[in-house]
Amino acid sequence: MKEFQDFDRAFLEETGLSLTSKVSLAEYSSFRIGGPADYFLEVRSLSDLALAVKSARKLGFPFYVIGGGYNILFDDAGYRGLVIRNSAAGLQYLPEKGSLEAASGTRLSDLVSLALKEGLTGLEFLAGIPGTVGGAVFGNAGAFGQAIGDRVAEVTVLSGEGQERALGPEELHFGYRYSSLKKDHKIILKASLKVEPGSRAEMLKTVEDYLNQRARKHPPGEVPCAGSYFKNPVLPGGRKIPAGQLLEQAGARGMRVGQAAVYKGHCNFIINLGGATARQVLTLAAELKEKVWQTSGIRLEEEVIFVPADASML
Ligand SMILES: Cc1cc2nc3c(=O)[nH]c(=O)nc-3n(C[C@H](O)[C@H](O)[C@H](O)COP(=O)(O)OP(=O)(O)OC[C@H]3O[C@@H](n4cnc5c(N)ncnc54)[C@H](O)[C@@H]3O)c2cc1C
Repeated sequence: MKEFQDFDRAFLEETGLSLTSKVSLAEYSSFRIGGPADYFLEVRSLSDLALAVKSARKLGFPFYVIGGGYNILFDDAGYRGLVIRNSAAGLQYLPEKGSLEAASGTRLSDLVSLALKEGLTGLEFLAGIPGTVGGAVFGNAGAFGQAIGDRVAEVTVLSGEGQERALGPEELHFGYRYSSLKKDHKIILKASLKVEPGSRAEMLKTVEDYLNQRARKHPPGEVPCAGSYFKNPVLPGGRKIPAGQLLEQAGARGMRVGQAAVYKGHCNFIINLGGATARQVLTLAAELKEKVWQTSGIRLEEEVIFVPADASML
C-alpha cells in the first residue's frame, strides 16, 4: 500500500477536492454496520462525481460509489480505498420528452414529491422506497408489481474509459432487481424517467395506499436494516414465491446470531438489534438460506449487497 500513502494529497492536486480519512461506514448504511473507510468523499454535483471517479481511476486507487446506503452491508473491516457518497441531486421536467430527468443522487422521495406536485403519474410505486435514483436504477428497485426500469427512457453513465454515454432500456437489460449495470458497474450520472399527466387526487390516493401497506409490513424507519434481505425466488413458470413465506415456513421466526435478528413482523428482514456485526448478519443469512434449502429445496439469493473491504469499481 506504500504507493497509496499520499493518495489524499495526489487526489487533492488532481481534483481540488479534500478527502476525509478513517470514516465509519456504519454512519452511511441504514444497517448501521461497517468499519472505517480509508478515505471518504461526499459529492454534491455530477461534475464532482465524474471528476472523483475519473481521478481515482487515473491514480489507480480502489473506490466504491454509494447512494443512500439503504441496500448495502459494509464489511466489519471497513473499506480499503475511497468511498464516494453520491448526493448530487437535481430534477427537471422535460414536457417535450414526457420525462423527468433526475441526477443520480436525487432522493426517490424528492422525485415522487415533484411528480405529485406537477401532476405527473407513473412513479407512485416508488413512494416509501428509501435511497437515490442511482441506487434504484442500479438494482431496478420496485414495489407493487412495478420497477423503475419500466419507466426508464434513458440513463447517462460514465464508462470505464471516463466517457459519458446515454443508454436506452434495451441496453440495460432490466430484470427483477437486476440491471446490466450490476455486471460492469458503470457509474450512473442521471436518468430520464417516463411520466404522463395524471390526476393529482388519484395519485395522492395511490401513494397513501402504498405507504400504508408498507407501514404494515416493513420495520419502522428507525430500525436498522437494508430492506428485504433475499429476493423472492422465481419458479420456472415465472411465478414468484415470497421469500418471507418460505422463511416463515422454514422456522426463521425468532432466529438471531449475536445482535443480528430476523424481524418479528416479516421474516425477510434481518435487523440490527444494536451493535450487530457484518459477520453476524452474514452468518444468520447463511443459516436462513440453509433452512429454506432443507425445507423447500429452493436456494434463496441475496438482495442486499455485501461490500467487502477490497471491493473495487476500478
Ligand atoms: C426499510 C427499507 C425498505 C425498502 N424497500 C424496498 C422496496 O420496496 N423495493 C426495493 O426495490 N428496494 C427496497 N429497499 C432497498 C433500497 O431502498 C433500494 O435498493 C434502493 O434503490 C437503494 O438505493 P441507495 O441509493 O440507497 O443505494 P445504495 O444502497 O447506496 O447502493 C446500492 C448499490 O447501488 C450502487 N449505486 C448506487 N448509486 C450508484 C451510482 N450513481 N452509479 C453506480 N452504482 C450506484 C452501489 O454501488 C451499490 O452497489 C428498501 C430498503 C429499506 C431500508
